[in-house]
Amino acid sequence: MSREKRNDRRSRSEAPTPVIYEADESLLAEARARGQNALRVISRLQRSGHEAYLVGGCVRDLLIGRAPKDFDVATSARPRQAKRLFRTGRIIGRRFRLVHVRYGDEIIETATFRRAPQETRPGGELLITEDNEYGTAAEDAVRRDFTVNGLFLDPFNGEILDFVGGMEDLDDRVLRTIGDPETRLLEDPVRILRAIKFSTRLDFRIDDETWVAMGRCAADLDRSAPPRILEEILRLLRSGTAMGAFKQLRSCTALEPIFPALHTHLERIKSSPDSEAKLHTFWRLLEALDADVQSGERPSNAVLVALMIHDMVDATAPLETDELQGASIRAIARAADTTLEPFTRAARLPRKDASKARRLLTLQGRFTLQGKQNFRPLLFCLMEDFEDALALFRIRSRARGRGYDIYQGWVDRLLQASELSEEEVLAERKRGRRRKRRRRKRRK
Ligand code: ATP
Ligand code: MG
Repeated sequence: MSREKRNDRRSRSEAPTPVIYEADESLLAEARARGQNALRVISRLQRSGHEAYLVGGCVRDLLIGRAPKDFDVATSARPRQAKRLFRTGRIIGRRFRLVHVRYGDEIIETATFRRAPQETRPGGELLITEDNEYGTAAEDAVRRDFTVNGLFLDPFNGEILDFVGGMEDLDDRVLRTIGDPETRLLEDPVRILRAIKFSTRLDFRIDDETWVAMGRCAADLDRSAPPRILEEILRLLRSGTAMGAFKQLRSCTALEPIFPALHTHLERIKSSPDSEAKLHTFWRLLEALDADVQSGERPSNAVLVALMIHDMVDATAPLETDELQGASIRAIARAADTTLEPFTRAARLPRKDASKARRLLTLQGRFTLQGKQNFRPLLFCLMEDFEDALALFRIRSRARGRGYDIYQGWVDRLLQASELSEEEVLAERKRGRRRKRRRRKRRK
């Protein structure tokens, strides 16, 4: 990446001046091509006399040549001032007010610069609870989490404002908190999970001091809002680098506070005689999940949750049962409930996702059922949740290195089932019922 450093006025004073870099033309062209709506917002704000920049993840991604997920704008304009400039502008949020500017399907999140809040210390704790004081660009930069996330880009004059040393860290591919790591992680322990997300996704090394602080602060994750943690975990699972992320979670001791059951399970099998093989299965599942995601699949939350508890359930109630219903299916459901219960309670995992995950696990045995009289494969294909159950089976097959041909067979059957006419489906259902009735009679 060619860019030129124009000045070096950074100081450690109260109002730091930025190091200014010049973005190269290809980066700006990329910003214009992909972020045209964000650029419209910035242009309008600037023409009205406000400061406005691209910020955060999109600047980071543009600089390392990745396609940004979305484009965020930061501005000196207050929410009301910003909203007034856009016909489709809407103020959202109560605690922190943002302006959403809509262009068709795209929403450009436009946030007023804010500064780090005064710490509130109930009982001496360092957790941010208020986050709503407006500030300057410099203050807005230093309240962000990691140096590489703290850069501002003016897409019209091409200047990159670096208040936090983010450009050097981007060059070195290092993830480092802005300011003292322990203080910043205690303020918001979810940043530990964010560090792991960014480092695995971008293949950045976590700076040593930040890493040590992550270990020290991991236990504080239980102070953070459970839904935020859940959201980050699901993101890690869906990232395509879940295996690396979970290895990092475990080695910085963050797995125990966020998912004690999984932590205990992994510890227990580590010390059991058969540990090698068993430990392997969990990581193989994550590896298979990553391959799945990398090939373009987007597993649902229920599939991800089922994968998380898969080994624990399978250890108590084997999934490869040849029953359609009955004791072994009930045992699987019970094991899933027991494993998920603390998680639904603590992490506020929606009940809907939890019960769906349980169902996906109880359905796994059906994929390998053969010639069972009352089993109607085509009707199974038409059942609610079939596709998710099949996605889980595919990942399990990949992980075990067998059963992929069986999976292919089910893909064909699914196609066949989707081509059935309504009458044919009805006939198929009747056939199932007739058999059941006949059997019941015979039993009498
Ligand atoms: P992604 O590509 O995943 O969207 P991102 O860097 O844009 O990555 P977001 O979660 O969208 O991450 O947040 C946008 C920006 O807001 C971040 O780049 C960072 O500057 C800031 N930010 C987000 N979460 C935090 C946090 N917990 N603490 C401090 N700053 C944060
Ligand atoms: Mg983002």
